[in-house]
Amino acid sequence: MRTSQMLIPTLRDDPGEAETVSHRLMLRAGMIRKVAAGVYTYLPLGLRVLRKVEGIVREEMNRAGAQELLMPIASPAELWRETGRWDFYGKELFRFKDRHERDFCLGPTHEEVITDLIRREVRSYRQLPLNCYQIQTKFRDEIRPRFGLMRGREFIMKDAYSFDKDEEGAKLSYQKMYDAYQRIFARCGLTFRAVEADTGLIGGSSSHEFMVLAETGEETIVYADGGTYAANVERAEVLPPAEASTEPLRPLRKVATPGARTVAEVCAFLNVSPQQLVKTLLYKTPKEIVAVLIRGDHEANEVKLKKLLGVTDLELADPETVAKTTGAPVGFAGPIGLKNVRILADQSVAVMRNLVAGGNEANHHYVDANKDRDFAGVQVADLRNALVGDVSPRGDGRLKIAKGIEVGHVFMLGTKYSKAMGSAFLDPQGQERLAVMGCYGIGVSRTAAAAIEQNHDAKGIIWPVPIAPFHVHLLPLSQSDAVQKQAKILYDQLGQAGIEVLWDDRDERAGVKFNDADLIGAPLHLVIGEKGLAQGQVELKARRTGTVTKLPPAEVPVTVKTRLSDKDPATGS
Ligand code: ATP
Ligand code: MG
Repeated sequence: MRTSQMLIPTLRDDPGEAETVSHRLMLRAGMIRKVAAGVYTYLPLGLRVLRKVEGIVREEMNRAGAQELLMPIASPAELWRETGRWDFYGKELFRFKDRHERDFCLGPTHEEVITDLIRREVRSYRQLPLNCYQIQTKFRDEIRPRFGLMRGREFIMKDAYSFDKDEEGAKLSYQKMYDAYQRIFARCGLTFRAVEADTGLIGGSSSHEFMVLAETGEETIVYADGGTYAANVERAEVLPPAEASTEPLRPLRKVATPGARTVAEVCAFLNVSPQQLVKTLLYKTPKEIVAVLIRGDHEANEVKLKKLLGVTDLELADPETVAKTTGAPVGFAGPIGLKNVRILADQSVAVMRNLVAGGNEANHHYVDANKDRDFAGVQVADLRNALVGDVSPRGDGRLKIAKGIEVGHVFMLGTKYSKAMGSAFLDPQGQERLAVMGCYGIGVSRTAAAAIEQNHDAKGIIWPVPIAPFHVHLLPLSQSDAVQKQAKILYDQLGQAGIEVLWDDRDERAGVKFNDADLIGAPLHLVIGEKGLAQGQVELKARRTGTVTKLPPAEVPVTVKTRLSDKDPATGS
């Protein structure tokens, strides 16, 4: 393709609206433009990258035995009412009415639509297992759309759904998708890690997220320094403390702590460490108010809490509820004398002695409080986030922490949807049975953005070869006949060899062309200058390493082919 004939509106300066590298570089390289918050037009360069990612996803899904279909973007509310998700999905679901006032939504995911199809079309065990996927636009009215394609309201997803005769078959389907995902992200040239993920209320252990490792990631993952354990911090189990305090119990005292509400303030005032303090967090669920006791230096894990309470809605209680429940303003809640609420304590609180806790009275705290003596009857569970240095729950060393971008998710659904929607088949004995399902998503547009977060430098993007919009950026530096003629010959030869070339045929200064080429990030730049050509040479530059090789034009096609192959260190693909 010739630059003069393509819409590639590069920007010299950083757009103010962009907070992350990928967002900034996609705007500057002329790949995307914002239409509304979280809604983008993919320009030709951006679309080329998306198509490359899709191509890899499609090949690997087909290889794993999944079949491509395409479901509608709009779906009727009735299907969503069958599973209860019309209400449950809340504001993230884009809803609309048709001219007959019937409720519809734009699909954020397609479990309902696919289960409806399968319950109608699959009646016998002979038709199973089945795995269907699509690559399609999804809509989620995210509360905070941001970071360009990273968290859009409209985005491209590959979603697959497996249907099996039994649990064992479903496990096999899950494993096939897990393996396919490993191949997909490796082929995209990304550094990533599969981590154990939360399974919500469905339970079980089969859910993994695929995380591209990047400082800018919104997800926190923990992994064992001596083994294979890795999990989303939302999910990571914390082992019970190995030792309990053996300090002699001291008598309980209530002391004045004027104005000291936060952990830091109370610790400073009483001259104690956060490890000696217990914070009491009041949460509201649709059913009840619960008090959660967490050690001062720990963070509560709301995902674990939701699971334990069997709820999906959970929020910190508002100041009014806190006042009504504890008799004190926010900052002075404690477990002693707290009535009419369920009290839960994290495991580390259970082994503390002589602790500090809120006094349920304005400007007061208890000192030297002890669980069994002063606030018996609390339920103890694992309720905190894992921390650096914690022992790995699999015993393979200590935990470390990293940031990641969730690009894929594989999930064992069991019979949740087949049961709700009656997707049954007849087994060999003629008995009706529910299909056992799995669902598997990949954020196609998010993967493109994640690739940039991982592959860039101060000058711009450095595309991994397999998802680059073009392989070679051809940069003739003069309008002279000799240079232009040579450019045309190389453009044609490379094209015939199946190499994708972007030919900067504009009458621009060398500096402008180089800047744009670095920004756009094709793996190889082919520079034709007047002087070099007079000596029978052109220059091949690897974008990643900056290595320049001078070579005669005749050698270009073969050299480019080698450079684009997996093993070339200069291209670093
Ligand atoms: P997140 O926690 O980031 O909101 P999710 O758990 O809601 O993700 P899934 O429902 O598992 O995501 O969707 C499958 C995949 O779709 C995700 O792994 C992610 O790559 C992608 N994805 C989800 N939401 C968005 C979004 N708002 N913009 C772009 N990609 C998204
Ligand atoms: Mg989400």
